[in-house]
Parts: sequence; structure tokens; C-alpha cells
Amino acid sequence: MAYVINDDCIACGSCIDECPVEAISEGDIYTIDPEVCTDCGTCADICPSEAIHPA
Ligand code: SF4
Ligand code: SF4
Repeated sequence: MAYVINDDCIACGSCIDECPVEAISEGDIYTIDPEVCTDCGTCADICPSEAIHPA
């Protein structure tokens, strides 16, 4: 399992520096690499758009 970023992402960039394993990539909508994500939930807690949820 991994966390997933949905269409509510506003590309604010807040999550990318919070990920301890650098699983998040920039884009029009940011994305999480499921092979790298450790399900820690840190990014979901800080996302202002509540765009990040467990898959
Ligand atoms: Fe997108 Fe949320 Fe990350 Fe901001 S914190 S880039 S809105 S997923
Ligand atoms: Fe990174 Fe944790 Fe978010 Fe996974 S849940 S992308 S490991 S901050």
C-alpha cells in the first residue's frame, strides 16, 4: 500500500520536502512513487487541499 495524491492537488509544493524518503515528485498534480512510499502519512497531514489519502 502507498499514499496517493488526487485531483484536488493545487501543486503548492508543501508535501515534497516533508517526505522522509523523497517519494513525492513535482508536476501539475504531484505524484507519489508507490515503490518508495512507506505509508508514514506525514504528507497527508500537511496537505492544505486534503488531496493525499491512503490507497
Ligand atoms: Fe498537492 Fe497537497 Fe502536495 Fe500541495 S501538499 S503539492 S496540494 S498534494
Ligand atoms: Fe512520503 Fe510518508 Fe507521504 Fe509516503 S506517506 S509519500 S513516505 S510523506
